[in-house]
Amino acid sequence: MINILDKTFVPFISQEKIEHRIAELASLITKDYEGCCPVFIVVLNGSFLFASELVKKIPLSCEINFIRLSSYSQTTSTGTVREIIGMDENIQGRDVIIIEDIVDTGLTMSQLLNKIKALEPKSVEVATLLHKPEALKTPVNMRYVGFEIANRFVVGYGLDYDGIGRNLDAIYVLAE
Ligand code: 5GP
Repeated sequence: MINILDKTFVPFISQEKIEHRIAELASLITKDYEGCCPVFIVVLNGSFLFASELVKKIPLSCEINFIRLSSYSQTTSTGTVREIIGMDENIQGRDVIIIEDIVDTGLTMSQLLNKIKALEPKSVEVATLLHKPEALKTPVNMRYVGFEIANRFVVGYGLDYDGIGRNLDAIYVLAE
């Protein structure tokens, strides 16, 4: 059990399980992209540990681009629009794999996918460490999913609660 700010969290997914599953995802990606030079787009901040553990287990020639989504959001008829910051790689005609920490409602990923697709990559796939199927509000095609979890708030392994907890080496869930 750990306390972060005003909340209590309990162990949920151990470091061993996380690393074992990431190794499995890395093997799948290595097989699927044999002979290619994919571009990984790492969505900061939450996916930094997942991305580093994943890419070091993929022995392909590849490029890695780190992006953030602006916290500035603009309200339009379709909801909030977050801009991509740091997309300095030309991905036209490239095989792209987006690395994300968690897909919850899917709204962030579906907007990001639309923006990435507008840059005309040859292909684009999603690798997410966690996914909450019950929370999904819009369909998102996720080829590589680490763990499907219940609709509960988690921290650790890159994920934060109010800025704290990203450095935890395992995933913890908010105590009920
Ligand atoms: P979505 O647009 O899919 O609802 O939201 C995705 C973002 O919400 C993630 O990138 C993450 O920042 C945040 N998020 C969703 N669920 C959780 C959770 O259980 N824990 C933490 N720390 N962040 C979450």
